[in-house]
Amino acid sequence: MRSDTTADVVILGSGAAGLTAAIAASDHGSAVHVFEKAATIGGSSAVSGGVVWIANNHHCAAAGIEDSREDALAYLESLSLGRIDSDLAATFVDVGSEMIRYLEDHTPVRFRLLDGYPDYHPEHPGGKPLGGRSLDNELFSFASLGEWADRITTRVPPLPLTLAERLAARHGAGPDVQTLAHRSTTQQRAIGHALIGALLQACLDRRIQITTGARARKLVLNGNRVEGVVVEHNSAELHVSAPKGVVLATGGFEWNEEFVTAFLRGPMTAPTTPPDNEGDGLVMAMRAGAALGNMSEAWWVPVIRVPDQQAWGREAVHLVVAERTYPRSIMVNRKGRRFTNEACNYNAMGGALHAFDPGGFDYVNLPAWLVFDHDYKLRHPVASCPPGREVPNWMPNGAGLRDLARLISVDADALENTVERFNKDAVAGHDPDFGRGNSVYDTFNGDHSLEGVAATLGPLDRPPFYAVQIEMGSLGTKGGPRTDVRARVINLEGDVIHGLYAAGNVMAGPTGMAYPGAGGTLGPAMTWGFIAGRDASTRLV
Ligand SMILES: Cc1cc2nc3c(=O)[nH]c(=O)nc-3n(C[C@H](O)[C@H](O)[C@H](O)COP(=O)(O)OP(=O)(O)OC[C@H]3O[C@@H](n4cnc5c(N)ncnc54)[C@H](O)[C@@H]3O)c2cc1C
Repeated sequence: MRSDTTADVVILGSGAAGLTAAIAASDHGSAVHVFEKAATIGGSSAVSGGVVWIANNHHCAAAGIEDSREDALAYLESLSLGRIDSDLAATFVDVGSEMIRYLEDHTPVRFRLLDGYPDYHPEHPGGKPLGGRSLDNELFSFASLGEWADRITTRVPPLPLTLAERLAARHGAGPDVQTLAHRSTTQQRAIGHALIGALLQACLDRRIQITTGARARKLVLNGNRVEGVVVEHNSAELHVSAPKGVVLATGGFEWNEEFVTAFLRGPMTAPTTPPDNEGDGLVMAMRAGAALGNMSEAWWVPVIRVPDQQAWGREAVHLVVAERTYPRSIMVNRKGRRFTNEACNYNAMGGALHAFDPGGFDYVNLPAWLVFDHDYKLRHPVASCPPGREVPNWMPNGAGLRDLARLISVDADALENTVERFNKDAVAGHDPDFGRGNSVYDTFNGDHSLEGVAATLGPLDRPPFYAVQIEMGSLGTKGGPRTDVRARVINLEGDVIHGLYAAGNVMAGPTGMAYPGAGGTLGPAMTWGFIAGRDASTRLV
């Protein structure tokens, strides 16, 4: 092949999957080159919470929390619905714990237990109601990154607060002003920035080449073998040869409207990731003859569109987790009816938002409305609106439920009946319709100044009433080329495409429809990156 440049292993994409692959490949003796389409490093991983879900990990063991391979596999199996490949699941469990230990031993990446954060389905077999598998990042100082410090993907100026501290801050606890000021002066970063900063530092320490503004376009194929890739850089085509392999780590296709319509199981109108994830890796894999899997799936998340904020030149969208968990709130559909346990995990709620009404021939729960009362409004932030502040124009409100119903075009009688029924049950401390409050997960994100189920169940009885529209968003798609347990992409005949690997949201995710717990996307992404980099490096060419 024509070759302008060569690296043993070429990584496409600089999110957590790509950078982990780069480190593993380098540490196994390869010269590595990372190509990143965006001008900055880190993709969705950089703007994420940075939490990593790894079963049976050493932090959990050190804290005396029991976990085991068997528990983890039983848990994933309970979420399988026939869509999880048991070999891939076992590989995720076995290599995940090795991967985080390796990173901690050989790089500046440091995790700590996210205390008490339950799995997302904690009452399932093998689930962990008291946490142990979700890992937070230690703070990481960007001071050592030199000129790279300003080249990490950013959504909003990041607060130097770990995820644990952010959760504590919801309940009035957290570091004091002096501590925060010191952290800012010393360029400490947290969550996704800490993760990507530390992974990037490890790449720089290894002299791994990184080129930004470089969009991979085409794999160079010789029969069933990938020999390199063509990259667009500075308005020219760069032919890169990669004798040991190319790792696709280009993220999902959530910003490619054509693919979203063609593949996802229902509407997804509000991606929350940087807009570079347009399915480029999927296109390259399809052209190479890859078998595809999990194509209808995404990491679903309900969101609020916030017109008074911008992200990447577009109207910002805000993930809705705590807002729908706090007491004195419910979610209703266009018919004014509740349709799910509002406090359930965001990915599983995607199923409820995608419910289809055969009679009306529409998605009856889209859009939905989060409805809450004045007491709630005084106590809790809603997206960009702090508690007690003036009501923004994107938050309809009415003196009574009927006024609110008119403003949001919801049947007024139905809304009144729904609230009346919910209030009666909430006061009695239960939700016979949807079981809100039955799982420990339901109260974890609730109002901790209230005890037991009251942390999530409370009546909407203090006017005025407010509503915000809820849309179907995503933290990325998780369908794409299928891989084997060595992260090698397989073709339609079930054979390995030699020299082609995939990791992260670009690939057919090994957890199927499920989101096992906080960190459930970065856990498999980094594990597959680790496997891919190592395997490519040790591959006999
Ligand atoms: C607000 C938010 C919070 C989140 N919090 C968490 C969390 O705490 N825990 C968790 O597990 N998950 C979380 N997620 C989801 C998580 O961020 C993603 O699932 C994960 O980052 C995917 O990693 P990745 O490496 O596959 O892709 P990405 O991190 O998106 O990286 C892909 C990279 O590939 C680049 N690219 C695309 N096309 C090309 C091309 N043609 N050539 C070269 N480069 C290309 C992109 O620019 C991007 O930099 C969150 C997401 C968001 C948006």
